[in-house]
Amino acid sequence: MDPRDLSAHTPYRAGRGVEEVARERGLDPDTLVKLSSNENPFGPSPAAVEAIRAAAPTVHTYPKAEHTDLSARLADDWNVALEQVWLSPGGDGVLDYLARAFLDPGDSVLVPEPGFAYYPMSARYRDATVDSYPLHKSEDFAQTPANVLDSYDGHRIVYVTTPHNPTGSEMALSDIETVAAETADETLVLVDEAYAEFTDAPNAHGLVDDREDVAILRTFSKAYGLAGLRLGYALVPEAWADAYERVNTPFAVNSLACRAGLAALDDEEHVERTVETARWAREYMHDHLDAPTWESGGNFVLAEVGDGEAVTDAAMDEGVIVRDCSSFGLPECVRITCGTREGTERAVGVLNEVVD
Ligand SMILES: *Cc1c(COP(=O)(O)O)cnc(C)c1O
Repeated sequence: MDPRDLSAHTPYRAGRGVEEVARERGLDPDTLVKLSSNENPFGPSPAAVEAIRAAAPTVHTYPKAEHTDLSARLADDWNVALEQVWLSPGGDGVLDYLARAFLDPGDSVLVPEPGFAYYPMSARYRDATVDSYPLHKSEDFAQTPANVLDSYDGHRIVYVTTPHNPTGSEMALSDIETVAAETADETLVLVDEAYAEFTDAPNAHGLVDDREDVAILRTFSKAYGLAGLRLGYALVPEAWADAYERVNTPFAVNSLACRAGLAALDDEEHVERTVETARWAREYMHDHLDAPTWESGGNFVLAEVGDGEAVTDAAMDEGVIVRDCSSFGLPECVRITCGTREGTERAVGVLNEVVD
């Protein structure tokens, strides 16, 4: 027998891994600088590592208390009710849970183009159809209500990413509010704030109190450096909060992730260092890269290098891994994650050698 027809389902293409590149190119993995997946260049918070060690002997039990402890902490931090926090396996899990909760087969969703590949994937698992709204390079990928609303036609979910991956552009809170107000009451505006820690712009969490048609996605994968644990959450309006228990995969988040997440939230120094360094790196890349770059609110910069695939390939030979943006429909661009100071300087040096 065969799986059902999966031809509309495009496999997710992650950034290349260190081991994979090292083996393929005969390089020492310890000398590689990986700036292709927007990971934290400082690694996880040491407090989170300690929490994982301490929790290891108890992984034979289901994570009930751990789950509640982390949800309660996040509810407290965001000043929402416990039921308004939907823990999930990564921010990707949020996309799945909201798709499960909102999409009937045949519903349609509206995603940004270019944009994050898992929006259409998670919607298609629910047999939804996918339309897109354009972010134009000629407008520096500006995100305006008109961008979204001109393509809007009663979609059930509208996805907004701010700061946006891979362009770095941001959508103002007032503009997100406009989109939510101008779309139907039965349209969910899903605000993906995976990179919100890296910007000073006001975030949208207040909208889940003001409205019943907005949800926020957050993740521990980026600023908190816990990508390998798969930990994220949604903030949702109180009105439909009890849907979580009906759609989540039981014990959605593992116990080590819950404990590490709690510890990471307490390690403000780690997040601050991460964010400050990312800001420095963004500026450094804007100033020193011999290629046009765009303003970014995230921990990465999009650069126009000509032939993104060739540049990515040549940089890899020199031990620097960046993200070729062909899969985003931007074959002339690469996306460079903000590294440590040393890593960023090395990446810019190598890229300047290989860009012509
Ligand atoms: C990284 C990312 C996410 C979530 O990633 P997880 O590792 O699943 O938490 C969500 N949206 C965007 C735009 C991202 O770049």
